[in-house]
Order: sequence, then C-alpha cells, then structure tokens
Amino acid sequence: MTGSLAIIGLGPGNEDLQTPQAKDALARATDLFGYTTYLDRVPVRPDQNKHGSDNREEIARARAALELAYAGKSVAIVSSGDPGVFAMAAAVFEAIEFGDPAWRDIAVTVVPGISAMFATAARIGAPLGHDFCALSLSDNLKPWETVTRRLRLAAEAGFVIALYNPISKARPWQLGAAFDLLRAVHPPATPVVFATAVSRADETVVVTDLATADPALADMRTLVLIGSGATRRIDRNDGDPWLYTPRRSDLGAIDLGNTAPQTKAAG
Ligand code: SAH
Repeated sequence: MTGSLAIIGLGPGNEDLQTPQAKDALARATDLFGYTTYLDRVPVRPDQNKHGSDNREEIARARAALELAYAGKSVAIVSSGDPGVFAMAAAVFEAIEFGDPAWRDIAVTVVPGISAMFATAARIGAPLGHDFCALSLSDNLKPWETVTRRLRLAAEAGFVIALYNPISKARPWQLGAAFDLLRAVHPPATPVVFATAVSRADETVVVTDLATADPALADMRTLVLIGSGATRRIDRNDGDPWLYTPRRSDLGAIDLGNTAPQTKAAG
C-alpha cells in the first residue's frame, strides 16, 4: 500500500517555535530525511530510520523520500523554518512533476513552520508590518542578474526586504554588492538588521543602517532584513532599538510631535 510523505517545517531553531502539528508528524514517521544539520535537531527514536544528506542534494533527497513513501512507509522530510520558503517543499513537488507518475498516489502533506523572517521580525518589533518581500541572495539556482534586478525593483517599489542565504564560502562578495546596489536607492540611515541563529543558543541580532552595514556580520545562518523608506526606528531608553514599518503609508508625512497618531484599533 502506498505510504505518506510529510514535508515538515522545524521552525528557526528553538523547539518552542515548532508547532504541535510538526511534532506530531515527526513522531508518526517511520523514516526521516533531511539535511544532516537540520535532522540532528530532531529527536529520533530507535524505531525510526534517519537518512541525513548534504544540503546541496535536495532533489536526490526528495526522490529517495518519495520512493520510500511509495513503498508504503510513513516518511518525513524536514526543513528549517517553513518548508515552503527556499526549502524542501518545492524540491519535492519538482521531483513529483518530473518523476514516476505513480508518485502522484502518495499522500503528501506540507506542515508549515515559522520562517526565519518572522522569527527575526518578532525579535526587533514589527518591521514586516507593511508590504515586504523575501529574496534568496543565492545565485546557485538563478543568475546573479536576476538577483540584482529583483533587489533593485523591490527596493524602488518600497518593499521591506528579507534576504535569505546572504553569504557562504562559495558566495563571499554578493552581499556587499547587494548593499552597494541598495545604497543607490535608499538613504544611508535605512535600517538594516543582521539576525543570526535566531532562537538558538548562539543567537545574535545587530541593528545597523545601510551606510555602515558590513557583510562580515553575516554568515550562512543569518537573515538580513533591509527596511523600506517607511521603516522607522524607535530608540529605547535601554537596549536595542525597535523597528517597525507602519501600516499606513502616510505616517512619515505627518508631524507627529510626541503624540501617537490617531488610528483605528488594530484589526
Ligand atoms: N526554510 C527556511 C529558509 C531556508 S534557506 C525558513 O523558512 O526560514 C536558509 C537561510 O535561512 C539561511 O541562510 C538564513 O538566511 C535563514 N535562516 C534559517 N534559519 C535561521 C535562523 N534561525 N536565524 C536566522 N536566519 C535563519
């Protein structure tokens, strides 16, 4: 009998940020697939089989998981954050589209998770309070010209930008080039956040600005958030500032003095 495949989001790191649905799906699996680093975060019971692989092997991993699911197993495949955001869910559907037509009988479920951009935003206020977009800075799977075009247009269009995969050993210069490009669009004081290993024990969150943003603050576990023209910074009396992007687009034009704007209650 055909088995099942659950594509599970583990959240950004801390188990608290994993959904009960994800925990249930992990517990039900006979076989667990994933990038070894992510799979190591999952408590695997002796009766469950673990199939770890390298992070470049997504399609091969998806095919292996589908084969086992088709053979009748309850298979789980894990991603960090949300599995639909630059992660395994799209790799599985690509493998299904171009793979054995019989795989279309498999019961596939996608179990959502808290993506790095949401975990990061929650740490610093509400920077994604208005229109935003998520971009992967990796040019492994798309040409660099596509990356720069999307970045420029997103910045010009006023989106807050969440940059995933900002840097790696194989892609050392792209983040600096991205900042240069954005400096031609946005003012120097535009907020930039480097959020590394959010919700994990070694989490660091640095709030800076476009003028001084230093790519050396990022590694493979960093989400870089770049404000739009509307993103505002509130300096706290003690501690890191809050950032937020107002729900209304005309806030910057209003002389607020020290008074909060009159708006309807949040919906
Ligand atoms: N599916 C994941 C993204 C995978 S792409 C999600 O929804 O979050 C890998 C990139 O995600 C990393 O390069 C980094 O930019 C970001 N990322 C993943 N976990 C993170 C964390 N705990 N803190 C900050 N960024 C993280």
